[in-house]
Amino acid sequence: MSKTVVIVGTGLGGLSTGLRLATRGYKVKFVEKAPQPGGRLNQIKKDGFTFDIGPIFFSMPYEFEELIKDCGIEMPFDFVELDPLYTVNFRGSDRKFSLYKDIDKLSEQFEGVEPNFKTKLTAYLKKCEALYNDTVNMVIKQNFDSIPSYLMALMKVNPVHLPVLLKTFWKQSSSYFESKEAQQIVSLIAFFLGRTPFDTNAVYTLLSHIEFSHTGYYNVKGGMYTIVTSLVNELSKHNVSFEYNTEIVDFKATNNKITSLTDQNGKTHEADIFVINADAALFRGTVLNRKKFSDKKLSKMTWTMGYLTFYVGVKTQLPQVEHHNYFLGDNYETYAKDVMVNPGTLEKPYYYVNVLSKHNSECAPNGCEALFFVCPVPNLIYKTDWADKDEMINSILEDFSERFKQDISKDIIFKMEYTPEDWQNQFNLYKGAGLGLSHSMLQIGALRPKNYDEKFKNTFYVGSSTIPGAGLPMAVISSKLTAERVYDYE
Ligand SMILES: Cc1cc2nc3c(=O)[nH]c(=O)nc-3n(C[C@H](O)[C@H](O)[C@H](O)COP(=O)(O)OP(=O)(O)OC[C@H]3O[C@@H](n4cnc5c(N)ncnc54)[C@H](O)[C@@H]3O)c2cc1C
Repeated sequence: MSKTVVIVGTGLGGLSTGLRLATRGYKVKFVEKAPQPGGRLNQIKKDGFTFDIGPIFFSMPYEFEELIKDCGIEMPFDFVELDPLYTVNFRGSDRKFSLYKDIDKLSEQFEGVEPNFKTKLTAYLKKCEALYNDTVNMVIKQNFDSIPSYLMALMKVNPVHLPVLLKTFWKQSSSYFESKEAQQIVSLIAFFLGRTPFDTNAVYTLLSHIEFSHTGYYNVKGGMYTIVTSLVNELSKHNVSFEYNTEIVDFKATNNKITSLTDQNGKTHEADIFVINADAALFRGTVLNRKKFSDKKLSKMTWTMGYLTFYVGVKTQLPQVEHHNYFLGDNYETYAKDVMVNPGTLEKPYYYVNVLSKHNSECAPNGCEALFFVCPVPNLIYKTDWADKDEMINSILEDFSERFKQDISKDIIFKMEYTPEDWQNQFNLYKGAGLGLSHSMLQIGALRPKNYDEKFKNTFYVGSSTIPGAGLPMAVISSKLTAERVYDYE
């Protein structure tokens, strides 16, 4: 008889693991706190508007292709390649930088700003590519059974990279360029890891290789949530069941195995195997009551920043705004150093705007646009009171209107926001930290919460706060590593 698996959480990590196991013959059931699947990869659909609520694009599309191939199914959604990747706008300047994938076209954007940009970028990316080649398969896409085996793997990494490990992302990337524009644009990707270029290790400059020369970014036809609906559809073909509005709050165990999980209504969910897609550190602390993950211990770990996200439907069109846009101010270094910890920095916020309706006309009524704003903010460790959220949102909307010389406030017909409090409450994100545990050197690889439980042999973890880390491709890699653990247990 096939083994039963309960998966707690329907984030991308949970769904991908479920698909791997279900297509191998396991009988899978999902329990999910939220009323619909997807976790942070989610959607708001209201008043004729559709918004992706979190992820807007992803790199390494081949990780999705590998997942689909491993499961022996057809690719259920269509990738859309982004070119330009996004645009960057600086406060006080009308010049817009479009980040084209073609290096010659990209270099044209920096004419008169950064002399010999192409030569400098090529030299920088050569180093980033070497870092990528020497670490990704060896360190990121591996299960480690112990800290010594992890350290052994690290020791095999080409020693030529050692000096890089002693620098920050900013120190490494900015040393190749002179202009503030080139330095800031190239370092923006560190924010995608939920920290800043000033406190992210330079080893992550390998992401610049992924961004500029390896895969670039993709999204999905119909919007990012299509990933979720199509995976759920595939899962349904394998008789997988879903219970929503179901939060796991307790467990029962015999010897070294969990026998059932208990939800908020006291209902028990029995299985042979349990996969936890909820935050791997928080779940251990709050549900399994592990001392190593007590509230005090959790608060001492390093977490990523929070996000203030808001979703705006306007009854006008914005031809001058691209699909993916970054808006930076004029105090990058001070801003970046403060943004995670100092609510005062938010007076003149930096932000990102996505216009989903630009390439997906079905996502807004005729003549309207669906705008999604993301603003990096301190998580709830550093800013507990969000009563001023409307002030912040209005100041961003004002700044956006000024930059485009079009007042959008009078055209707003839909508005909704998620503060770090909402992110915390909706998806159990510790202190509303948007990407979970940070990727500091002491919180990656075998030093990150493990993807197998320390005590219960039939319990495994998948997703952002276990290995390898945050981001959609990482969630898919995580599912592969977790599924391997399940097969090994068998
Ligand atoms: C604003 C924002 C923008 C982002 N942009 C990008 C981007 O552009 N590209 C990119 O690659 N990544 C992006 N990310 C990161 C990406 O969203 C995450 O890394 C990824 O979605 C995490 O998936 P996951 O499976 O680890 O967990 P989650 O998506 O967090 O799923 C976990 C699920 O578990 C459920 N759960 C938690 N606790 C319980 C419980 N006790 N009982 C039952 N269910 C429970 C939650 O409700 C949730 O549905 C972004 C994140 C945010 C917040």
